[in-house]
Amino acid sequence: LLKPKIVILGAGYAGLMTLTRLQKTISVNEAEIVLVNKHDYHYETTWLHHAAAGTLHHDRVRFNINNLIDRNKVKFIQGTVVEINTDKNKVILENDELSYDYLVIALGGESETFGIKGLKENSFAIVSVNAARKIRNHIEYQFATYHTEGEKSDDKLTIVVGGAGFTGMEFLGEITDRIPKLCRDYDIEENQVKIICVEAADSPLAGFDSDLVKYAMAYLEGRGVQFKLGTRIKECKQGAVIVQSGEEEEEIKAKTIIWSAGVRGNSVIDRSGFEANKGRVIVQPDLRAPGKDNVFIIGDCSIVVNKTDNSHYPPTAQIAMQQGVTCAANLTKLIRKKSDLEAFVPNIRGSVCSLGENDAIGIVYGKKVVGSRALFMKKVIDNRALYMMGGASLVFKKGKLNLFS
Ligand code: FAD
Repeated sequence: LLKPKIVILGAGYAGLMTLTRLQKTISVNEAEIVLVNKHDYHYETTWLHHAAAGTLHHDRVRFNINNLIDRNKVKFIQGTVVEINTDKNKVILENDELSYDYLVIALGGESETFGIKGLKENSFAIVSVNAARKIRNHIEYQFATYHTEGEKSDDKLTIVVGGAGFTGMEFLGEITDRIPKLCRDYDIEENQVKIICVEAADSPLAGFDSDLVKYAMAYLEGRGVQFKLGTRIKECKQGAVIVQSGEEEEEIKAKTIIWSAGVRGNSVIDRSGFEANKGRVIVQPDLRAPGKDNVFIIGDCSIVVNKTDNSHYPPTAQIAMQQGVTCAANLTKLIRKKSDLEAFVPNIRGSVCSLGENDAIGIVYGKKVVGSRALFMKKVIDNRALYMMGGASLVFKKGKLNLFS
């Protein structure tokens, strides 16, 4: 008897969570499961700011996918998805084509530059292990060549971060931890380094508790970060950004420009004819794509609507993982020919924003936390994600085990 074939695209939080749940519930005879991912490793997207700043080696933020897979049940294909043809139930990879009976699209997000001139070409975005290690090396190279004959220029030591959302703030925390070490290694005075954060809104971390935001800003300013609020990046050139605040324009020369103010869903969504807003699809309550009863879309490629006020939940790892659980349960029901699919209900436990190794802010179960309590919670959240995907052994291998320091 021919088994139904489930294809999962993407081994991020959403995809791996679906997979690890599915391989527990589905028996070998019930379905064939195929996982497709660009790399043979999973990376913790929420830890990439460490790797980009160089405060954690990139091998600490990734692990081999094959170690998590039950090979009796799951086939892993390393490949890049180009397009999906939902009429023909086919996935087109760069070098291959796959058919499916059930599809899970969990390809994550991409950087969005909103058409700002030169930004895509001349800035970095913290979006993958490859991108993170390029940023780390680029920054280190600027320091390493500062004293090189004929190359000395202060813009080498200027880092501009565009966007003070979670990613921008967490990166600022890490880079301020890293700067003293870089300065020591390359005989540079710390006060020669400039870190400028440009944010279009009047405050960092839009919508977050204002006391916590003030705390975070004061902490980062104390470590040398200069915030330019109410200021937007108008253009980006090689080695400079042009920013605008009101009527005033200014050019800031900086050899390192990090863009962290925009994320969108995966461009595969746009190429595959889904009705989407910047690569994100408003999914049905059971997480299936509208009008496509064998296609689930989860994680950063999906939009979850908050029923209480019709707003959209911001895409997070927290939601992606919870969606993975519901998606696996619903796939199991479909395979077993049951029609009572579960509706996805997000359970937002809170969020914590790290500010480097020594401080953090957050709201956990409705309570404000800062300092060592917030740092402790952040590590618990990070370890829990590992535990959910790979159990205790993964936590021991890759977890943040120094919980109290
Ligand atoms: P991802 O985890 O990004 O996984 C997508 C996977 O698909 C990747 O493995 C990728 O390689 C693969 N892929 C992509 N394109 C293709 C293709 N064409 N073909 C094949 N494979 C492909 N959220 C929180 O909840 N808390 C936080 O503290 C937090 N901090 C963050 C810090 C940073 C620096 C960043 C960048 C994000 C942070 N987020 C945080 C957001 C969170 O990381 C995302 O919402 C989450 O990763 C989404 O999960 P996902 O499974 O949809 O995508």
